[in-house]
This record gives sequence, structure tokens and C-alpha cells, in this order.
Amino acid sequence: MKTRLFIEPIQNWSIYKGRPLMISGPCSAETEKQVMDTAFQLAALNKVDVFRAGIWKARTRPNAFEGVGSEGLKWLKLVKQETGLPVGTEVATQKHVYEAIKFGVDVLWIGARTSANPFAMQEIADALQGTDVMVFVKNPVNPDLELWIGAIERIYAAGIKHLGAIHRGFSTYEKTAFRNQPKWQVPIELRMRIPDLPMLCDPSHIGGARPYLFEIAQKAMDLNFDGLMLESHPDPDNAWSDKNQQITPQGLKELLDRLVLRQVVSHDSRFLDILGELRVQIDLFDDQLIDLMEQRMQVSETIGKYKKENNITILQNHRWEEIIRKVTAKGQDKGLSAEFVDQLFKAIHLESINRQMNVMNAKG
Ligand code: PEP
Ligand code: MN
Repeated sequence: MKTRLFIEPIQNWSIYKGRPLMISGPCSAETEKQVMDTAFQLAALNKVDVFRAGIWKARTRPNAFEGVGSEGLKWLKLVKQETGLPVGTEVATQKHVYEAIKFGVDVLWIGARTSANPFAMQEIADALQGTDVMVFVKNPVNPDLELWIGAIERIYAAGIKHLGAIHRGFSTYEKTAFRNQPKWQVPIELRMRIPDLPMLCDPSHIGGARPYLFEIAQKAMDLNFDGLMLESHPDPDNAWSDKNQQITPQGLKELLDRLVLRQVVSHDSRFLDILGELRVQIDLFDDQLIDLMEQRMQVSETIGKYKKENNITILQNHRWEEIIRKVTAKGQDKGLSAEFVDQLFKAIHLESINRQMNVMNAKG
């Protein structure tokens, strides 16, 4: 279901100069010099729209660097005065909101550990009431779309119209190459649910390491995200937090220069004709797929009835294993990934079982 929120389109935001909206700066403000050096180098690129720096850092373990605190807000104010760049920081409590606004911070974002907590979100929303600051809500650490939407709705209900989302990936127990799993289907689904919501991607916290940043940023652009948040630092290897994922301002320039930005719409009639024909073919195949599924499920139901008459269980493990083996092998021959075939057939199998359950448990 779509949610109609009256959110200001990103094109109307004062900070937006075109796609991608670029937010960059260090993970943490460390010293005045580090903040100012980064800001001047970024401003000189002419590619960054907002300077970011974490002032209060929500750290997983105690005794890690927890941010310089309100002291750093003076440096952000100086950045704004000296470079003209709008500035942004993360807020996690009411006090953070009041302090940041007092120092003229233009953009606030709510971090992944905070957006997972509705009590914290409500407190922040209450503190934002009556302000016209720009706010981005990062996804919660767990891939729960309703929780993310709930966090966004709380800020919206506080009257914030310059409101957006930042996709920063989801944490898992397993150690994976990326620091956080992108699970792109979650932000894509958010887009479908709240179409007007501006959406940024944060490749730094998804990738967790420099070599992955470009591919994640490119993917976000190909999925039509509105912007990017990328951490940058004049000397990343010696950063006080998240050193593996920060890049120098020069590194940021190189990354942005490599990004391919594709058009969202085209007015080229030849292109549109060909695309239209290809889409007709896709629609035909989708129609056939649905018809085939319906026929397959009819057979499943018949099997269910037959099993019932003969008092046989629904789930027959060896049969299921045989199906998966056969379709995976055939899929591989045809160039379909094993993961795709596996997911597809798990969904089909589940629907089959549900159909058979209904038959088994039907009265009479
Ligand atoms: C950050 O942006 O520095 C940060 C801590 O992000 P997240 O909440 O995504 O971990
Ligand atoms: Mn960080």
C-alpha cells in the first residue's frame, strides 16, 4: 500500500543542486584542524552539497571514541562560515537536537541504532516540533521495513517536511565481505511504499572498506537513489573511528568522476518504441508464468486430495530434494543462478504445501 505523505520533493530543497545530492565529511569530528582541513578540501571539489561530521558517536562497545560532543558544534559553525557549505550531524537524543539547532546545523540524521528504537524516535520527533531543519532517517540496524517507516512517520508527524531516508545496510551475525548487508529490496520497497521520499545511500557503512565504495555507490545510482553519504577524512588511516571506510577528499573526487549517471526517463522515440516492444514481451511471459503457476497448483491440490484419501503426509523430503536437484541443474544449464532457482522453487514449494494443507484440513 502506498503512503501519501506531503514531503518536499528533493528538487525543492535548498541543499539540492542535482543528482547525486552529496553529503561528505569525516565519520567523527576529531579536532578543529581536522574538521576545517576536510571541509576546505571538500569545498574545493565543488561536488559536495553538505558537510557531515559525527559529534556524538553511538559506539557498539564502551571505551571506543564517543565523539567530541558539543565542542564540535563550534567547528561545524565555522565550516559553514568559512566555506559556505551547509552542515549536518547525527542526533540521538533531545539534547543533541536542541544543541545542534542552537549552533545552526542545517541537516540532522538519525542513526541506525536510534531508528530501531521507537521511544528514542518519539523523543527526537518531539524535540523537532516547530523547527524547519532537514532530517534524514537511516534504516534501523535490522531489516525491518515497518520499523523504518514508523521512524519516518514519527518525524513527519512532528511537522518536518524536508524529510528523507538513508540506506546504510543491515547488520548480521555472520562475518561477510561487506560490513552491513545492503538487502536492496528493502529500500526499493520503501520507495514503492512512500514514492516521494528522498532516498540517499551510505556506501561507507554498507561496505565498511574502501575497495567496495564505488560499486555500492554505482548500484545506488543505477537504482535511482537521489544522493550519497560518503565519509571522507584527510588522513583516513589515522581516523579515530571507521578508518577502513573513509576516503580522502581526492579519493572522493575520483569516485564521483567514475560514477555513471543514467537518465531516469528518455524522450527518444526510437528508444521508447523498442523498450515498449520488449515490455510487451515481458508482460506476455509474466502472464504465462501466472497461468503455469495456477495449473501447477491445481495439480498440487489434486495430489493433496489423493494423499488425504490414502492418509499420507504432505511433506515428502526425498521428493522435494529430487525436485531441487533437477531444477538447479537445469537452471545452471540455462544460465540461471543457483540462488535464484533455489528461492523461486522454495516459494513455489511453500505455496504448494499451503494448498495441500487447505485440502487436507478441509471438512468433509
Ligand atoms: C555515521 O554516519 O557515522 C554512523 C554512525 O552511521 P550509522 O548510524 O549508519 O551506523
Ligand atoms: Mn562512521
